[in-house]
Amino acid sequence: MLWEECTKKTRALGGKVLQGEKVVGCAYDAATKKWTITSENNGARSSLVADHVISSAPLRELAHGLTPQISDHAMKAADSLKYRDFLTVMLILNDRELFDDNWIYIHDSEREGRAHPELQVVSPEMVPDPTKCCYGLEYFCFEGDGLWSSSDEQLIELAKKELEKIGLGNASEVLDGCVVRQKKAYPTYDDDYAKHVDALRAELAEKFPTLHPVGATDAQIQQSRHAMMTAMLTVEKSSRTSRLRRLAGQPGRRVPRGSKAGAASGASGLRQVPTKVKDAPVPPAG
Ligand SMILES: Cc1cc2nc3c(=O)[nH]c(=O)nc-3n(C[C@H](O)[C@H](O)[C@H](O)COP(=O)(O)OP(=O)(O)OC[C@H]3O[C@@H](n4cnc5c(N)ncnc54)[C@H](O)[C@@H]3O)c2cc1C
Repeated sequence: MLWEECTKKTRALGGKVLQGEKVVGCAYDAATKKWTITSENNGARSSLVADHVISSAPLRELAHGLTPQISDHAMKAADSLKYRDFLTVMLILNDRELFDDNWIYIHDSEREGRAHPELQVVSPEMVPDPTKCCYGLEYFCFEGDGLWSSSDEQLIELAKKELEKIGLGNASEVLDGCVVRQKKAYPTYDDDYAKHVDALRAELAEKFPTLHPVGATDAQIQQSRHAMMTAMLTVEKSSRTSRLRRLAGQPGRRVPRGSKAGAASGASGLRQVPTKVKDAPVPPAG
């Protein structure tokens, strides 16, 4: 797997990879130009000192974890950034080798999920038993809404019903299931997104010259290769200079079809901005 391999190579080169650490604070000392990073792992706190911080954490969370605190203006911009949460319901069945596709998008307003079937086609490591197949039904949602708050059992029942509607199998064939909830899976690119990011970035660049936010939560990009590219460019540049320029303007930046490069951009007219689901779309009991 990609990231296991990266970890091995980093360690082989003498790098340290700490896992299970949640960064809870990044304190910058302007006099020494050093960072003190505090993290938590199973309730135990530890810290390390660094010259640069490259962060893939959601910008809003990063802003709240910085010392010295950013201005009210910049914090307001950070708090205005919105995110979409996401959950996947995995259903395990005996493998029937129905098809080779590894992804199906379901465009149907009556269905809550879009199916992501046959995960073993993506990677055998994701389905260790080759006699089984695993369908992952994906649901966009917001933390606390009807879907998010449904119990795992309700969500598995919902997914089984959708599997039947899609025609991929009968609910009775499902051997097991589980639910994975991911907070802040996607930034919400609404009309003011770029404005808030720019305001926040300007202050971060001024106060924290060696802080480098990277990845999807910072730039208007939705694909992993673009997120990785921002990180790679950051490493390349930070090894040469202590100041980085904004990477969202680099190759990963999308200019929506039909819009003029350089024109003021907003989400209006390009696509619908996601809004919170109010009712719990769970199947009736029984
Ligand atoms: C359902 C779904 C399907 C997608 N499908 C595709 C696809 O088919 N192809 C494609 O190219 N892209 C796809 N994407 C987009 C792709 O996943 C993202 O663009 C990419 O993962 C962004 O990489 P990233 O490193 O910026 O963020 P992430 O992959 O989200 O990584 C951020 C990392 O930072 C860590 N982190 C956050 N806060 C802290 C903290 N306080 N302390 C320590 N660690 C922290 C997180 O744990 C996480 O590991 C998909 C995204 C979703 C949600």
